[in-house]
Amino acid sequence: MAKDVEKLDKKEQERISRILSKLSELYPEAGTALKYNNPFELLIATILAAQCTDKRVNKVTEKLFKKYKGPEDFAAADRQELEQDIRECGLFRNKSKNIIATSKVLLEKYDGEVPSNFDDLVTLPGVGRKTANVILANAFGIPAFAVDTHVYRLARRLGFSQKKDVLGVEKDLTRKVPKSLWIKAHHWLIRHGRNLCRARNPMCDKCPLKEDCPEFLKSQSSQ
Ligand code: SF4
Repeated sequence: MAKDVEKLDKKEQERISRILSKLSELYPEAGTALKYNNPFELLIATILAAQCTDKRVNKVTEKLFKKYKGPEDFAAADRQELEQDIRECGLFRNKSKNIIATSKVLLEKYDGEVPSNFDDLVTLPGVGRKTANVILANAFGIPAFAVDTHVYRLARRLGFSQKKDVLGVEKDLTRKVPKSLWIKAHHWLIRHGRNLCRARNPMCDKCPLKEDCPEFLKSQSSQ
């Protein structure tokens, strides 16, 4: 286990290593499903992805990025027209407002470029901690652990964290997972959450992680 990981007892280190190793075998190709050509497009796609599927976002952005080619076009967009262009993604009024405001800030403060550090990213309208971490990891390859609903659920079920708040879970994950695996582990947990460890009725019988999963072991001992 890498030096950057908190000193855990040996058994726990081995358990976490086994889980990560199995996830890497299960999902060798795991990465973001959002389609984009540059950090700005990923930023817009990630804002649109709030409470929407990646598949639907990709369908919308395929047309959107042909019509609006960069922050200049989005900053100058008619708000109501943009609302209609992104309507299918849901929460379209708020998302439209944030996309226009963020594009203006990028032009005013960052020469139209997406900043590659967390503190600047979270000042952009519509960009919270999770979105900032997604951008750092996927657009810039900077180690970050974005905690979405799947990552949160799996981190707790698999015993990476007992915390009940997103920031606490993120901190535990970054202490227990080697930094070199943060970006991949985020994608592995999402894939596993969609495939087997679903919010309702997780398919534990088919899960290769069950022998190392506290949630599964707890359910067995209570039977
Ligand atoms: S054993 Fe069940 S609860 Fe544990 S990770 Fe697998 S599917 Fe999720």
